Amino acid sequence: MASYISPAFLQQCFAMHRLDMVVRQLKGSGIIVSCRQCKIRHTVRLERRAEEREAVLGGEAQVFAEPLLRCAASHLPAIGVHAVDVVRDALDLWCAQCRETYPFRIIECVTRSV
Ligand SMILES: [Zn+2]
Ligand SMILES: [Zn+2]
Repeated sequence: MASYISPAFLQQCFAMHRLDMVVRQLKGSGIIVSCRQCKIRHTVRLERRAEEREAVLGGEAQVFAEPLLRCAASHLPAIGVHAVDVVRDALDLWCAQCRETYPFRIIECVTRSV
């Protein structure tokens, strides 16, 4: 299957069956989200959204904040996609265990079948 570069598929999965979306991995500056319903995988490149309230502590801003990296390391299954808005290029991750939301901007989304 060809791969498609468009966040539209991500939006569609989120709208239709967000509970079947599983965050597989945080990798570099992106995430890998698979959809159990469609049997497809979205690779989403992200950057931090400016309105994020957490101050950046000097140096280069990492895409993923320290608390989120800790979430991914210790309880990745608790992390889910909380919101997708392709009009604003926005994607929010949510950790169900820490009850914390992490806002991002979508730079690119590639969808392919698994
Ligand atoms: Zn889907
Ligand atoms: Zn957490």
